[in-house]
Amino acid sequence: MEKLLEVDGLQVAFKTHGGPIQAVRGVSFTLHKGETIAIVGESGCGKSVTAKSIMRLIPEHIGKIVGGKMLFQGKDLAQLPEKEMREMRGSQISMIFQDAMTSLNPTISIGEQIMEGIIRHQKVPRSEAKRQATEILQLVGIANPESRLKQYLHQFSGGMRQRIMIAIALVCKPAILIADEPTTALDVTIQAQIIELFQTIQRKTGVSIIMITHDLGVVAKIADRVNVMYAGKVVESGPVREIFYNPQHPYTKGLLSSMPRLDADRNIPLSPIPGTPPDLFAPPAGCAFAARCEYALEVCRAHQPEETQLGSKHVVSCWLQDPRAKKLTTAQQSPT
Ligand code: SF4
Ligand code: MG
Repeated sequence: MEKLLEVDGLQVAFKTHGGPIQAVRGVSFTLHKGETIAIVGESGCGKSVTAKSIMRLIPEHIGKIVGGKMLFQGKDLAQLPEKEMREMRGSQISMIFQDAMTSLNPTISIGEQIMEGIIRHQKVPRSEAKRQATEILQLVGIANPESRLKQYLHQFSGGMRQRIMIAIALVCKPAILIADEPTTALDVTIQAQIIELFQTIQRKTGVSIIMITHDLGVVAKIADRVNVMYAGKVVESGPVREIFYNPQHPYTKGLLSSMPRLDADRNIPLSPIPGTPPDLFAPPAGCAFAARCEYALEVCRAHQPEETQLGSKHVVSCWLQDPRAKKLTTAQQSPT
C-alpha cells in the first residue's frame, strides 16, 4: 500500500507558567492510501495534540513542534511555511472536531459555509461551488440538499450538524481526513450512523482517515490499524485484530477491559485502570505507565522501554516483551 503520511518522532511542547510540558514525546506512525488508522488513549495522552500538529493548528503562543517529521507528498509538514500550509488545509488534509456548534458559524447559512472552502481553494464561480455543495450534502446523507443549503445551524439536529462538518471537510476532496472524537457528543444511535457514514465515504471517495478517539467501540468498527497512546507516546500499534485479540501492552489490556460492552451484563462493574497518568512537566525516567502497571519490573522504573517488533506489523514498547530486560535488571546498565 502506498504511504500517504509518515509521522516520525513527532515531539510537541506546550508553554506554561510552570515551564514547558512535553505533550507529545516522539510519536511515529504511517497512514497508507485508503486506510483508516485510529489513535486511542485517555484524555490528555496527546492524541488531539498529535492531530492538531499534523494540521499545524497549535497556536504559537500555546505550543510548538519541537522535533520530528511529518512527511506528506514529499514535504515535511513540520517545516512547511504557513502560507503553503494554509493551502494544504481543507484541500489536502481536513479535520473535523467533536463539537459542530463551536466549529460552524450560526449566523451564516450552511450553503455559504460549505461554498467558502470551494471558492477559496478551487477559485470556481458560485454556480459551480453551489453544484459541488449540493453534491457533498447528498454524499453525507442530507436529503433535499438544495433547500437545506439555505438553512442555518439551529435548523439541524446534532447528528445532521456533524454530517455538515464532514461535508465541509470533504468538499475539496482531501487525501486525508482527521476526525477528532467525531461522535463523542452524540447519542448512541446517532454515533452508529455517523460511523457508518465514515465507512460509506471512504468507500466512495477513497479518503484516508485518522480517527482520534477514546472509544474502543468506534475503533473496532472502523479502524484497519490502531495506535495506542499513553503519556505522549505510542505504546502499542498493530492491525485492529491484533490489538483487540492479542494485546501485549499492559495499558492496552487495561483499556480493553475497561471498555463498555453492549453484550455484557450491565451489573458487572467496568474495571477502569486505577491511578492517573504521570505529570508531563517532569516525565518519569522509565516507563510512563510504571506507577499504574501491575507487572512493573525494576528495569521499568529506570529505563524507558523501546519498541519491540512482535509480528510483521505489531509493535509494543514494554519491557515485558524486550529480551534485554533481564540483563538490565541484573546489570543496571543503559540499553544499547
Ligand atoms: Fe509495565 Fe514495565 Fe511494560 Fe511499562 S515497561 S508497561 S511498567 S511492564
Ligand atoms: Mg482530545
